[in-house]
Amino acid sequence: MISPDLRDLYQEVILDHSKNPRNFRILEQANHTAEGFNPLCGDRLKLYLFIEGDQIKDITFQGSGCAISKASASMMTASVKGKNKKDARAIFEEFHSMLSGKNHSFDSPKLGKLSVFSGVSEFPVRVKCATLAWHTLKAGMETDGKVVSTEEENQDAG
Ligand code: ZN
Repeated sequence: MISPDLRDLYQEVILDHSKNPRNFRILEQANHTAEGFNPLCGDRLKLYLFIEGDQIKDITFQGSGCAISKASASMMTASVKGKNKKDARAIFEEFHSMLSGKNHSFDSPKLGKLSVFSGVSEFPVRVKCATLAWHTLKAGMETDGKVVSTEEENQDAG
């Protein structure tokens, strides 16, 4: 279980990243971009990726939203920068299973600092805020200029 002290520490990390987001700028040499939108909360972000071969050389974002969505985007960019796409996807999968509450032992070396979001799994509405940046990353790695929404089930007419 997560102790109350650890919970406070997690809160602090999330607040710090939401107030001073890392990689929060437009990336001039981006060769992939993607936009994410979470209508339930009003979170919006745009990701800029510079991908060479299979490696995410650089990644930045811009956007507005709640503290969780911003902190998550900030920490996501910091954790996948320099990684290859396969590793980035693997981190996303761990992150996702942590948030969907399937995995309660978060001693994952893959997640590292990202485990500060483990408490979010208790608030299903907030899970979408925390995963928005990751869904957008996935879209951005695969295509260019895609817009993803957390509520897009009915939009896929094609
Ligand atoms: Zn949000």
